[in-house]
Amino acid sequence: MRVAIFSAQRYERALFEEANVRYGHDLVYFDVLLGPETVSLAAGFPAVSVFVNDVVNRHVLRQLADGGTKFVATRSTGFNQIDVPAAKEVGIRVVRVTNYSPNSVAEFAVALLLALNRKIPRAYNRTREGNFSLDGLMGFDLVGRTVAVIGTGKIGRIFARIMIGFGCSVIGFDVQRSAEFEEIGGRYVDAEGIEGADVISLHCPLTPETYHIVNAGTLSRLKRGALLINTSRGGLVDTEAAIEALKSGQLGGIAIDVYEQEAGLFFKDLSSTIIPDDVIQRLVSFPNVIVTGHQAFFTREALGTILETTLVSVSEFAAGRPLANEIQP
Ligand code: NAD
Repeated sequence: MRVAIFSAQRYERALFEEANVRYGHDLVYFDVLLGPETVSLAAGFPAVSVFVNDVVNRHVLRQLADGGTKFVATRSTGFNQIDVPAAKEVGIRVVRVTNYSPNSVAEFAVALLLALNRKIPRAYNRTREGNFSLDGLMGFDLVGRTVAVIGTGKIGRIFARIMIGFGCSVIGFDVQRSAEFEEIGGRYVDAEGIEGADVISLHCPLTPETYHIVNAGTLSRLKRGALLINTSRGGLVDTEAAIEALKSGQLGGIAIDVYEQEAGLFFKDLSSTIIPDDVIQRLVSFPNVIVTGHQAFFTREALGTILETTLVSVSEFAAGRPLANEIQP
């Protein structure tokens, strides 16, 4: 089947080609984001594959349908970028990668927490310049600290298990409780219960209910000096409120792999350009902020499964078989 692959990165193309030997699809790569300006590129393609920052709203879906597209596969777990009810209306079926390596994201969240708390990026930069001073590098022991996990799904539970292994007391907030979370030693609390935590890590999807779940109000009620880790979706955090909380010292530090306005920035080398986004520029200027460019999923195992699952889904669609990873509105 002919598949238009949007937001195709160089590292994906080689792996896609390697895996596609077993599936025989006709893969055409576009390195641009799918959106109103680029949707015409998909005309005539029955299948389209997208990633986290592509714009797959009602308008784009209508144009895709007009061009003959009947199938959209996102190479991600989260699907907040896709208007799934609108897709159904125009007769487009949508799949995602329900399960790749939740370990990849959970382990990265732990890496961010350790790097932020123990100031490893600062130390790394210092020693490269011959500065071996410890001033400003003090962190805190994680053992015995309270870590709050917002969203105790596949990734949140693995993150929780690792933090319990560190000797932390792990509390969870979720709209759907998981028995496994409690079995591994997590304890559920209500939304207010997270306010005493030393570390908050976000692992819930971005939905209308979770948009800005971390805002000026929630930040003001956190324990002073708490650390915030976001490997889930940028829209969960009101970034400007987080900046104010960092300025006042209310927030002790923040490490983010995702950013509300990441669409124009992430997955690109902008090092030779002037970045017009003042918010991200302000964020990266703080010594107690770490920003990474949506790389939590980026392990050999996870990427391999993402591409393989996408090709399997295309084959299922082409053969008229049930779609194992279909997203229902
Ligand atoms: P999952 O569906 O297994 O778990 C999500 C959990 O969030 C569920 O338990 C759900 O009940 C809970 N939740 C939903 N709404 C909530 C709310 N209002 N308040 C609290 N909890 C709520 O998903 P997962 O595989 O663990 O992935 C979690 C998220 O991680 C994805 O939605 C995606 O946004 C993000 N993610 C990021 C990367 C990355 O590279 N940075 C990669 C994969 C996934």
